Amino acid sequence: MTAKPAAAAARATVYGYPRQGRNRELKKAIEGYWKGRVSADALRQTAADLRRATWQQLAEAGVHEVPTGDFSYYDHVLDTSVMVGALPERHRDAVRADALDGYFAMARGTQDVAPLEITKWFDTNYHYLVPELGPDTVFTADSAKQVAEFKEALALGHIPRPVLVGPVTYLLLAKAAPGVAADFEPLTLLDRLLPVYAEVLADLRAAGAEWVQLDEPALVQDRTPAELSATARAYRDLGGHTDRPKLLVASYFGRLGEALPVLAKAPVDGLALDFTETGAGNLDDLAAAGGLPGKRLVAGVVNGRNIWINDYEKSLATLGTLLGLAGQVDVSASCSLLHVPLDAKAERDIDPQIARGLAFAKQKTAEIVVLARGLTAGTDAITAELAANRADLAARASAAITRDPAVRARTAAITDADGRRSHPYAERTAAQRAHLRLPLLPTTTIGSFPQTSELRTARADLRTGRIDEAGYEERIKDEIREVLSFQEKAGIDVLVHGEPERNDMVQYFAEQLTGYLATQHGWVQSYGTRYVRPPVLAGDVSRPEPMTVRWTAYAQSLTDRPVKGMLTGPVTMLAWSFVRDDQPLGETARQVALALRDEVNDLEANGTSVIQVDEPALRETLPPRAADHAGYLEWATESFRLATAGVRPDTQIHTHMCYAEFGDIVQAIDDLDADVISLEAARSHMQVARELAAHGYPREAGPGVYDIHSPRIPSTEEAAALLRKGLEAIPAERLWVNPDCGLKTRGWPETRASLENLVAAARGIRAEL
Ligand code: GLN
Ligand code: ZN
Repeated sequence: MTAKPAAAAARATVYGYPRQGRNRELKKAIEGYWKGRVSADALRQTAADLRRATWQQLAEAGVHEVPTGDFSYYDHVLDTSVMVGALPERHRDAVRADALDGYFAMARGTQDVAPLEITKWFDTNYHYLVPELGPDTVFTADSAKQVAEFKEALALGHIPRPVLVGPVTYLLLAKAAPGVAADFEPLTLLDRLLPVYAEVLADLRAAGAEWVQLDEPALVQDRTPAELSATARAYRDLGGHTDRPKLLVASYFGRLGEALPVLAKAPVDGLALDFTETGAGNLDDLAAAGGLPGKRLVAGVVNGRNIWINDYEKSLATLGTLLGLAGQVDVSASCSLLHVPLDAKAERDIDPQIARGLAFAKQKTAEIVVLARGLTAGTDAITAELAANRADLAARASAAITRDPAVRARTAAITDADGRRSHPYAERTAAQRAHLRLPLLPTTTIGSFPQTSELRTARADLRTGRIDEAGYEERIKDEIREVLSFQEKAGIDVLVHGEPERNDMVQYFAEQLTGYLATQHGWVQSYGTRYVRPPVLAGDVSRPEPMTVRWTAYAQSLTDRPVKGMLTGPVTMLAWSFVRDDQPLGETARQVALALRDEVNDLEANGTSVIQVDEPALRETLPPRAADHAGYLEWATESFRLATAGVRPDTQIHTHMCYAEFGDIVQAIDDLDADVISLEAARSHMQVARELAAHGYPREAGPGVYDIHSPRIPSTEEAAALLRKGLEAIPAERLWVNPDCGLKTRGWPETRASLENLVAAARGIRAEL
């Protein structure tokens, strides 16, 4: 393969960068601010320092335009709501009183005012705050943050390119504000929103911006003709202003499909497209649309979602093809680097053969720069890099961890019967009722209890050798005893051990399964100041020993009430990890499922009658295009059944999922063949209960009545009101009472009060039935 030198120099750029800083300085500063330990000025200074360090690092690496405005104290979609003045009525006074505190109130809520709803950013593990709009929404431009960050970078000598959530995506991500009819379509506000965007763009132009990037990832999903024509209208309008900067419309996370010709024809100056596996088809579509003559194409050839090194030869081949299709071809990652950790070189404990194959944000930036150089100057200019890349790819492929013949033999021998429980649901539910003897509206929690600083200290002490295994075990057991005794006193029906031994619901298992690698510093933002450290699925998966049995059995030994065993399901074990890209996801899922099946069976054998297998990632992993749903859901539901179908009929299998919109996967949820499901519902006022009912979902369900993403304590009346709403959709015999999700991020005082209120609400309603 050879790439001819490009006519115009190809330039390297990125759409966004991890925000937290090398030592998670931003998280610490923001949480310090919330606790009153850090002043607003100190927080702003930390943020400015981090932005400066990021830009400088990008520029030094050889990035041409640096992104600005992608930085956020909490979430860039919330920042967009601020930018267009779409603040919920209930927060306006707080924002007026103090912009920063008001901002955090919208994100987290206060004791009196509910926050915005939180949901997944496309199929990533990043969460955004859902804009609340209605027919009365009045947009007003507030370009202050964008302009300030642009000027900040400019003053530091960079070429900044402000990055904004595009108007179409912004509206498509929004939902009807409370009190507005649920079928209200935010996209109907487009004509009102466009002048506000035009004003922000003009302000950025006036500040000196040559290019502005408008992110439209919503266009890689299936869009209706009306939505496509709204897109055309939006960019005809924004492109038509004379006082505007050049517009780069960025798409990512997939194939643009029918939106591609729409954007290609729009009077904008450039497009950014995903040319990795997820964007397969973009290249052909672009050629079919006649390319982008005279315009700028930013080619996302470096995968911004995984942590593996790029295959330079493959990328250069793609880039070479693209040269003929646009006036200017620049190189980037497939999406913002927000979704990968900062620096793979910080990892010291990973097998060197695999470590050579790792690329985090910093390495991906370097790859982008090398590829831009190769595209500009020809492959001769990067011979050394190409040779090193080939060697690194080969090292990873031949690493011992990647293939375990025993695992492969086992997945090859899977039969249909392995994925089917011995009895149908209707018979199982009767057996479980007789066995468990639970009251109507049984109360339970989702698994974790507050992860106190004592617990984190205990884990750190174990790591550093200040306490030994036995000492650690004692501390965990103390905690389990406390959690159990609280739950018994509070009157909860199905208890949990509280997951005190778990650092994270995926990492904990990954550390015990072969095939997974842990990182030391691989933090990525989940929401706000919450960061997770996804493990790396690098090889074939198996379970050498039981993982949870001793803790669950210990908890069960302390009580006569049923203690629920807690596992993380196969889809989530994949979704919240960095997955291998050298075999189909379904194959990896089957490997994980069989490992979990061993654990489920061992739990049952050790006296556990209720086992919850969490699959919060089932919905978020759904591919963006409907045409790909069936293929995904087939392996996803199969792997759940493989993990859970080996138990007796009177053993009750629960599953749990977070995040509000389930309407399109109720059939898949049913196909899991679980006995009980708990779902997030408090912020969306039990919407999921109605969705389940609308689809005739026949099983037991616990739509959450306590929003655990906020420190707010729901009152008994509030929980009872939600339960009554739940009862309108789900009959009492099938309704469970539980929080939205695990309590690990909460403090004990609010957890205690909230769960007591929740039990009181359940008892109150039971008495009415
Ligand atoms: N069992 C887990 C917990 O309670 C579930 C967490 C989740 O769904 N995100 O923490
Ligand atoms: Zn959850």
